[in-house]
Amino acid sequence: KKKLAERMGRIEESITIAITAKAKEMNAAGIKILSFGAGEPDFDTPDNIKEAAIKAIRNGFTKYTAAGGINELKDAIIEKEKKVNGVEYKRNEICVSAGGKQNLFNLSQVLFEEGDEVIILSPYWVTYEAIVKYANAVPVVIKASDKTGFVPTQEQLKEAITPKTKAIILNNPSNPTGGVYEKKDLEFLAELALKNDFWVISDEMYESIVYDNYKPVSIASFSKGIKDKTIVVNGVSKTYSMTGWRIGYSCGDSEITENMIKLQSQSTSNPTSIAQMAALEALIGPQDSVGVMRKEFEKRRNYIINALNSIIGITCFKPKGAFYVFPNISSLYGRSINGKTINNSMDFANVLLDEAKVAVVPGIGFGDDNYVRLSFATSMQVIQEGIEAIKEFVSKLK
Ligand code: PLP
Repeated sequence: KKKLAERMGRIEESITIAITAKAKEMNAAGIKILSFGAGEPDFDTPDNIKEAAIKAIRNGFTKYTAAGGINELKDAIIEKEKKVNGVEYKRNEICVSAGGKQNLFNLSQVLFEEGDEVIILSPYWVTYEAIVKYANAVPVVIKASDKTGFVPTQEQLKEAITPKTKAIILNNPSNPTGGVYEKKDLEFLAELALKNDFWVISDEMYESIVYDNYKPVSIASFSKGIKDKTIVVNGVSKTYSMTGWRIGYSCGDSEITENMIKLQSQSTSNPTSIAQMAALEALIGPQDSVGVMRKEFEKRRNYIINALNSIIGITCFKPKGAFYVFPNISSLYGRSINGKTINNSMDFANVLLDEAKVAVVPGIGFGDDNYVRLSFATSMQVIQEGIEAIKEFVSKLK
């Protein structure tokens, strides 16, 4: 009998892991690596949130909870969505999970099946493609470039829709590009979704990490009609620097929510009781830390964008959100250093790591081979030294 189920052949471990693993090995061997690989804020979780978790442990709040999360946390999420996005949800429209990632996985299993097409916007967060394939549906990838701020054109969107389109996965602001959608882009998308009857999965994980006074708007806020066709996914990981706590949530259609909770009840059960209490404090407690982090990220973004764009051969779109930059390095393809030629984003990342001891993530992992991703969720010192090292590396390419 064969060992592995067929479905395991449909997904791969992220190829971006290869570079991270190599950087870690080099680090362990005593070689100092300047890393732009982080996918999480470099700040500590705020103290009031930690205290809430400690209190939960002391009070014995350490047992199973309702599979889809405790009502107090659901109510805090409802309040937050009402205040920030102007959308009113009921408790039976909220599912709390072990990170937004579990919400997205639940959603894909509840919604997608063989024969369905799901529109994904490239460059994309790699998990979207994996969960669509795992559910036996077909990812339909639309590619947008830095020329349009990584937002697809209306024509591209229209062309991608077929009678089999079940959903579109939207990420605003975007990982890896930091690109954002303007209200008019979302209104157009909302119209398409209603006219062609497909679901919108709106991943708003980076909603509070935005710059230049950009005001994110949730597509679910436009009308009752589009709210009913949208599932919003969000969480506390990025906003409150709580990636390890594993709390995310979804808001939308009660029947879909009920089924997500049903699936969760048969797999992981409730998200950690203690972490739910911490997330509750994050949402209802003082919000100062959010602004402090956002400001620091903006300062770093301004620095890194200017520094990268001063390197001849590299051009970088200025992101309005998240903590990543996604420079275009394709004009360097064909050039070499010490006998190593760079022909794609994986080569660039590999050779840069070998020669300059700088770790970046190859764009191919996000569906576009013309770019690499740099996270600026690291100290200003690492950013300055790292970009200097990249500049020197590029100047040596022949
Ligand atoms: N969505 C995007 C675009 C992300 O970048 C991430 C994390 O990297 C997530 C969702 C999931 O975050 P979490 O599972 O920590 O809530």
